Amino acid sequence: MNYIKNGLITGGNRGIGLGLLKLFSVENNVMITVRNEEKGQKVLDSLKNIHNKKIDYVVMDVDDNESVLKASKEIARVYSSVDILINNAGILLSEYDLPALQTSEESIIKTFNTNTLGALRVCKAILPLMNDAGRIINISSGMGQLEDMEGGSIAYRISKTSLNTLTVVLSKELKSKKIKVNTICPGWVKTDMGGQNATLTIEESTSKIVAFALSDDFPNGKFLRHGEVIPW
Ligand code: NAP
Repeated sequence: MNYIKNGLITGGNRGIGLGLLKLFSVENNVMITVRNEEKGQKVLDSLKNIHNKKIDYVVMDVDDNESVLKASKEIARVYSSVDILINNAGILLSEYDLPALQTSEESIIKTFNTNTLGALRVCKAILPLMNDAGRIINISSGMGQLEDMEGGSIAYRISKTSLNTLTVVLSKELKSKKIKVNTICPGWVKTDMGGQNATLTIEESTSKIVAFALSDDFPNGKFLRHGEVIPW
């Protein structure tokens, strides 16, 4: 049974976020966040006539707490509650292939600010709009998985390992409210970030994420890829 009515997806104008919007909105109301009005309007124009459920956008830059708070007020005007939040917005800076010792502090801090603190800011602002049994999915990466850690991409790896930590901490702290928090690796996906050599199309990846997000069997405090629990 589908308990989800209203979904919020950060970074929904392209890539995995846009793919999630297309699939979620078949049966649910979905609000995406975008960094400016033009991007939001472009998505709405491209999807009009396709979906029955309500699709909307709100301007939010997850790097900026004021922007996140302002957006949360607009979301509260449209939705009585947010049933599922997907923290998808993320960056991988162009110097990702440098070794750790040559990576600038600026790039580590910038990536952490978006990929980790951004998700925390959004959780803080949106949790007051979540009822008991709300769901949060943080889109992480196998590159943040300690079990399978490789060299390179230190900024991105730190940000995603830390996002996984945030997932576990919130999953414990929100247990009393029955809000469940999980982290997902979407696989290697053909997007601007993943590049065209990636192994999965956006739909192949997002169909598995949506099936998991809407399933009755939604765990708490786990790391998953394609619906299977994987080690941290
Ligand atoms: P993408 O195509 O580069 O899209 C990134 C999205 O995040 C865009 O909508 C972008 O908005 C938004 N964004 C970036 N910084 C933001 C900020 N400060 N505030 C609000 N929105 C912001 O990337 P993707 O491949 O779809 O990745 C989506 C998520 O999956 C990311 O968290 C990524 O780390 C994760 N992931 C991807 C892969 C892969 O193979 N693609 C693998 C593992 C994990 P703009 O259009 O305004 O820039």
